[in-house]
Amino acid sequence: MAKAKAFDLSAARILVTNDDGIHAPGLKAMVRIARALSKDVWVIAPDTEQSATSHSLTLRRPLRVRRFGPRRFSVDGTPTDCVLVAQHHLLAKRPADLVLSGVNHGANLGEDVTYSGTIAAAMEGALLGVRSIAFSQLRHKDGRINWATGERHGPEVVRRLMTVDWPDELLVNVNFPLCGPDEVTGIRVCRQGRRDTAIQIIEGQDPGGRDYLWLGDFLSDETSQADTDLAATAEGAIAVTPLHLDLTHKASLKPLAGVFA
Ligand code: MN
Repeated sequence: MAKAKAFDLSAARILVTNDDGIHAPGLKAMVRIARALSKDVWVIAPDTEQSATSHSLTLRRPLRVRRFGPRRFSVDGTPTDCVLVAQHHLLAKRPADLVLSGVNHGANLGEDVTYSGTIAAAMEGALLGVRSIAFSQLRHKDGRINWATGERHGPEVVRRLMTVDWPDELLVNVNFPLCGPDEVTGIRVCRQGRRDTAIQIIEGQDPGGRDYLWLGDFLSDETSQADTDLAATAEGAIAVTPLHLDLTHKASLKPLAGVFA
């Protein structure tokens, strides 16, 4: 990518959102990262947790916006709703120049990308022509989470990403590893991977004795694929993965055209 014509971060209006909701601890980490970069930081986030809602929109009911303070609002909708309400309504006169989504409570690696509301907020930003970055912090199996790793390294990741031109529809997915801020082994640009394990389905019975199934987490983040987001974070590196919205599988265009010729 070419060197940018200069994206002035200190003058940028930053929109902070997430999928864990306006009261999530990771949102505080995201705001700290944003405030290290610019004074013009706006928080417009879902009022309740919206994890794994992907790129969904709320179309069949009204949206309620609640003001929590200066430059701080919740929307009773999805992350995508928040970005749309921000850019087309709350910030319509002067839309954000940069969307930062997260920091998510837990990884968004490999196949997570297709479920993630955190990444979907960045997708919506990209669709609206705004530079957009999703951030996620890996969590330990016992639920512990080290927000300090992202808070320490996040601003530098954003600064570096702003030094290059962004093609249309680019969004960037950043995952912070489990280790503490001093143990980070590097910042690695890598592709989206795939876990070796499957998602868990837990069987149980509700208090009324009725059977239920509950979709759980992946058994592990293990992968046999090198040079992926999963491999990088497993080695203590910050994974930086460029994503785009064109889902076309280009290698199949010609063979499939042959099938229908
Ligand atoms: Mn989440």
